Amino acid sequence: MERVKKLLVGVPVNGTYVTEVEILKSNGIAERVFTDKLPEKPYTWMGNVLSAALKNLGDEPIGEKCRNEYLNTRSITIPNALLNLSIADVHTLLLEVHRTAWRPVIKKQEAICKYCGTKMLVDIDLNKIEPEEPYEEKVWEELSCDLDDGFTFHAFGKPTDDVRMFDEYDGVTFNRMTFRIPTLRDGIKCETYSDDNVGFWRRIAYGTLESLQAVTDEKVTHELPKEAIIAIGMKLFDVHLFTDDLFKIRETLRETLPILPYFYQDECVNSSCKRMTPVSMEASNFFSD
Ligand SMILES: [Zn+2]
Repeated sequence: MERVKKLLVGVPVNGTYVTEVEILKSNGIAERVFTDKLPEKPYTWMGNVLSAALKNLGDEPIGEKCRNEYLNTRSITIPNALLNLSIADVHTLLLEVHRTAWRPVIKKQEAICKYCGTKMLVDIDLNKIEPEEPYEEKVWEELSCDLDDGFTFHAFGKPTDDVRMFDEYDGVTFNRMTFRIPTLRDGIKCETYSDDNVGFWRRIAYGTLESLQAVTDEKVTHELPKEAIIAIGMKLFDVHLFTDDLFKIRETLRETLPILPYFYQDECVNSSCKRMTPVSMEASNFFSD
């Protein structure tokens, strides 16, 4: 099987934008790392899996070094180059490692036909999974999200104060957010919240927020200074934004970047239905024996 895989997003490593990786053959050490799942720390686990599985990332050696470290210390220091990988590519590579270095089939997974409701026990063939075409091949630098209600800023301090902080932005509604690409490092930082999807992505949003802009007719009229954003903190997402906008933000962070989907279409086993229905899998079922 071809061991060189495409990164659908890609990552800069030492000045080069890397879009391909090679997956090493698994051995006894890699097996231990893959199956040691750390339920409380899913992103650390994914980082460990990739540390043991990838030959290198650009000119940074990964797999051999990390396997040696694990052999000697029973732990892995996830290399910096890997920590910079987008969460999207981490998910894509997890699936690539599973089907290339572990095994291509996950046996006896439960699926339900979305048309007739028939419960099926299926052996999921990961080799049937392809990227959802067309995806854009480009150098990803930031994600942008236009808000419906937006965030209306109020200068800090009482209206009666002589000098209020950020007074020139008082009453301005900021309706665009830009984010840097969420990385494995961000995932690990927020992983204690990862069983709460909404809370997890809210923290990722705050951690990756690059700018808060007021935009009229595609022109940026104001940009709120970083110090003001820091002073508002998580309250920006927890208190000030409305659900429609929060939903859009999550969607932007999770669904803009290309990714290998964790499902494919298969024929329903019910002979009177036989329609093509999505069969999906959970990352938590990966790397079971
Ligand atoms: Zn059916």
